[in-house]
Amino acid sequence: VSPLKKLEQLEFSLDSVTDLSSPSVSSSSPAVATFSCVNGVTELRFLQSDSAHCFTFDLASAQLFKLGLVQFICVSDSSESSEEKSFSHGVNIKFRNEKDSKDFCDSFEEWRKEALVQGSSLPNGTVSANRSKFDDKIEASSAKMYFHYYGQLLHQQNMLQDYVRTGTYYAAVMENRSDFAGRVVVDVGAGSGILSMFAAQAGAKHVYAVEASEMAEYARKLIAGNPLFADRITVIKGKVEDIELPEKADVLISEPMGTLLVNERMLESYVIARDRFMSPNGKMFPTVGRIHMAPFSDEFLFIEMANKAIFWQQQNYYGVDLTPLFGSAHQGYFSQPVVDAFDPRLLVAPPMFHTLDFTQMKEEDFYEIDIPLKFTASMCTRVHGLACWFDVLFDGSTVQRWFTTAPGAPTTHWYQIRCVLSQPIYVMAGQEITGRLHLIAHSAQSYTIDLTLSAKMWGPGASQGGILQSSTCKFDLKEPYYRMSQPQAYPAAQEPPLQPQEQLNTQGIQIQNDDLEDELLQQPPQNTSAQL
Ligand code: SAH
Repeated sequence: VSPLKKLEQLEFSLDSVTDLSSPSVSSSSPAVATFSCVNGVTELRFLQSDSAHCFTFDLASAQLFKLGLVQFICVSDSSESSEEKSFSHGVNIKFRNEKDSKDFCDSFEEWRKEALVQGSSLPNGTVSANRSKFDDKIEASSAKMYFHYYGQLLHQQNMLQDYVRTGTYYAAVMENRSDFAGRVVVDVGAGSGILSMFAAQAGAKHVYAVEASEMAEYARKLIAGNPLFADRITVIKGKVEDIELPEKADVLISEPMGTLLVNERMLESYVIARDRFMSPNGKMFPTVGRIHMAPFSDEFLFIEMANKAIFWQQQNYYGVDLTPLFGSAHQGYFSQPVVDAFDPRLLVAPPMFHTLDFTQMKEEDFYEIDIPLKFTASMCTRVHGLACWFDVLFDGSTVQRWFTTAPGAPTTHWYQIRCVLSQPIYVMAGQEITGRLHLIAHSAQSYTIDLTLSAKMWGPGASQGGILQSSTCKFDLKEPYYRMSQPQAYPAAQEPPLQPQEQLNTQGIQIQNDDLEDELLQQPPQNTSAQL
């Protein structure tokens, strides 16, 4: 028996139902509510037991509002049984007790879901009651915190004040005007609406700015205050997984990158938006992303991490032996990926990268990302772990622009990330370092990281079996260690930048970011969006 079949048997006895359209003429009287599916139309019917009055709602458009513990209103735009179809229609429902009201609401959601699956179309821009792909894989508590965070202006400001980031987006849009002029654009996770306004400035015909957090209201206000393009931008509050758009888009623009590129799991929403809203030959800004990796050696960092757990080595802390927790504390510190801007001279082998093509990848491809590692050590050293950063490409028709978060390049609010091994490995110049970086997505919008680095001893010893050093650590990308506020053994801002071509000098606009970068570096960790 399908859940639907089971539900079909259910009737709900109600304390009373009152017609809201004509409360003066109708009385409130006991009633029975029944869900049914007739000729493909899923209906909710209320039958008043004394007057035999019947109210019918099409569940594809019906909505339920809670007034109290046992009191609700059910409304819909039109009803099959109503003669005046253009008017909204509603009833006030009173349940006998809380349990009845809860059971009814659960059924209502189930049946409504069924109604929507059956292909009843939603008006443009409405949020369906369907439990979306997003809800199925993301814990509600994580999503609540996540959208609460982005709903605050200070966090949007933090991203807007990352001039390397925002300036590169501006340049990528403006120098590729022909990709935007006269086109329909969707801004996936619009935040303050900044990228929508860039697209509009580049001549977009219309921009749909989709934002799930309360920031959508601020975006509306900001866009309304910019009359040059306000009439070409529609803000839609909701998740890209849930909302509907009235037309297909030629271009998708988004800033879905988190720490290590994939943190926050927003790239999945980006490719869902691609499949739902983009026309087949549409363009994506950004188009591809790459995770770059290289082994590093940093004795200062290693000692700093190891020292943190020393507290738990005390045998007489106010008479208490803390050592039983030393191992757990040590492991805890070494499971935190370190986020800071480091000197690229700490890298001990040429980096490698793993490409994620946003135009081709399926949502499921992000659930598990397995990267085999192979490096050749450039020096004789002790390797403390793997350093990672990312870049993304705006593959415009006019200019292909890369945005990089590499060490040595102008610092962004993503900084770089380092996975520190609790057991370092020793390598000789020219020696091969192999391993694996395995990322497994979890329901708190982040990843568990498994890192293994190995080095096989070479020379005569190797042919006799050699000595294999291998070190493995597990990290939670959701719990990074923000190291920016800590004293640093080397300057955070490095010169010269690795990629001088990244300097922005587009449309006659000069962006000075040195002072602000320093400012960003001084900010306490909670001000970085990458913390999510
Ligand atoms: N585009 C803005 C904001 C980027 S931050 C800018 O570049 O400044 C990412 C934004 O995407 C956040 O505001 C977040 O609330 C929103 N977001 C994340 N996942 C989303 C989803 N599934 N649907 C809609 N918005 C989402």
